[in-house]
Amino acid sequence: MRYSHIANAYEKIEATTKRLEMTSLLVDLLRQTSEELIGKVVYLTQGKLYPDFVGIEIGIAEKLAIRAVSRATGYNEREIKADVALTGDLGVSTERFLKKKTQKAFFPEPLDVAGLYSDLDSMAKATGSGSIELKTRLLAGLLARASPQEGKYIIRTVTGSLRLGMADMTVLDALAVAFGGGKDARRYLERAYNISSDLGRVATAVAKQGIEAAKMFEVSVGEPLRPMQAERLSSPAEILEKLGGRCMAEFKYDGERIQAHKRKGQITLFSRRLENITDQYPDACRMLVRSVQAEEVIVEAECVAVDADTEEMRPFQELMHRRRKYGIKEAMEEYPIALFLFDALYIDGSDLTLKPYLVRRGRLEKVIEQDGRVRIAQSILTSDPEELEQFFENAVETGCEGLVCKSVAKDAVYHAGTRGWLWIKYKRDYKSDLTDSVDLVVVGAFHGRGKRAGTYGALLLAAYAPEQDIFQTVTKCGTGFTDEDLRDLPEKMKAHHIPHRHPRVHSKLKADVWFKPEVVIEIRGAEITLSPIHLCAEDIIRAGSGLAIRFPRFTGNYRLDKAAEDATSAEQIVGMYRSRLKKLGS
Ligand code: AMP
Repeated sequence: MRYSHIANAYEKIEATTKRLEMTSLLVDLLRQTSEELIGKVVYLTQGKLYPDFVGIEIGIAEKLAIRAVSRATGYNEREIKADVALTGDLGVSTERFLKKKTQKAFFPEPLDVAGLYSDLDSMAKATGSGSIELKTRLLAGLLARASPQEGKYIIRTVTGSLRLGMADMTVLDALAVAFGGGKDARRYLERAYNISSDLGRVATAVAKQGIEAAKMFEVSVGEPLRPMQAERLSSPAEILEKLGGRCMAEFKYDGERIQAHKRKGQITLFSRRLENITDQYPDACRMLVRSVQAEEVIVEAECVAVDADTEEMRPFQELMHRRRKYGIKEAMEEYPIALFLFDALYIDGSDLTLKPYLVRRGRLEKVIEQDGRVRIAQSILTSDPEELEQFFENAVETGCEGLVCKSVAKDAVYHAGTRGWLWIKYKRDYKSDLTDSVDLVVVGAFHGRGKRAGTYGALLLAAYAPEQDIFQTVTKCGTGFTDEDLRDLPEKMKAHHIPHRHPRVHSKLKADVWFKPEVVIEIRGAEITLSPIHLCAEDIIRAGSGLAIRFPRFTGNYRLDKAAEDATSAEQIVGMYRSRLKKLGS
């Protein structure tokens, strides 16, 4: 398969503002791809070479990329830099220089996808002395053979700025249509993806063996499952009602979620976003080696900073000091941790994800030998709202955020990758909607005036609507930013810039600047109101109206740990709006 084929598809995908059209362009591309290549093509369309959890990125710095463009085109680096300053996009500049060059040169042998992938792979894996030269040489070699259009996309791919907006769910939709006979097949693909986190592997399986292959996917140690997530409610009575009158309430520890895999005596740790964070937590690995009493295991835990002397829990901010690449030993001593385990997904050959929660928890208790630093999440089985409230206060007093209340029904499986009502969180903030915070996606901005000339006056923020897989605006926020925030914002957002509204963004407002939906920030709002302008949950409460957050304030928190799809959902905002009305009415 020629790379020009893919580059052509990218060009069309980039030009469309309609999600359906985007999906159907991808369907066409996947259908034309061979079984052997399809996994690679799927990764490439997302700007990757491997699933995220493998942790191998191409990550070529702009400086090196410019050097390669210079070598391939014969123009000097200064000229290229000057052009990038004009176009604002090294991809476009590369295309321009390759166009100028091709007037003089002839096309050598065309680029094929397998060869290109293998060169990109060598670039990604090159380390040590001589690696810079090797990367430059490989990249210049590819560019020398590329058409201007191919060059543009190669450069964007290697510098991590391809961003076609191919969300995982879009790829699953396309695979369902291309190989599963239609959208109905998506649920099988979704489960396969949710338990493997590897779209390329799912694509290869269904391209080779059809949808049956997706149905037979199994949990595998070493491949992280996409985490199950909790919904939220604001009173014990509502929670119990939703969970059929009885639930397992657990402390909601305030730390970092960790999925631990054990195989052959080795522990691998994955973050909530499925990054491999094993190297950050050598202490957690040692603790788990000691505590886990089985050969092959996948368990989930919350990792919390604790006081070295008292073993009392410490605030979340302290744990953030452990997010680093260097100085791990010192940080480990200064900010020790404890692990609170709350689920078991796999133990010695048995996939537990389709077992009910109480069975999983029972297996977890058997497989973990507890000590001061490795504990099973504190819990009670209850059907009494009063008891739940007391347990909640107890949790908060101990340093937790609140509770996670879990369904004890027979069908309360581990629903990987899904936010649902089998788990319901109950946090302190939720009791008063005035102090509630939400995580919203930055989709646009408005130019500032006066003191804010040259930066943004306000950001346009959206909630996520998972069913349609779109982002609906819910507020315009200009408060809460420090001078430093304001100064840095345009530069920070530059990489996310697009010339038009993103097809997955729904907005009646016309922003001055549009962004790809990628950055999530935390907002505290004072009120939720019906709105004629914002499209969040439009028509749900009243025909023709959406919901808006009034008097929003940026908390200073960039939620780098969240993907846009992890932002607060439109449905959750509807829930907050309704529960507030209930309180006002009572
Ligand atoms: P949130 O991040 O606010 O959506 O809350 C869900 C998070 O709570 C999970 O991703 C876990 O990191 C964390 N958590 C803490 N304790 C528990 C528990 N006992 N069960 C499930 N999740 C928990």
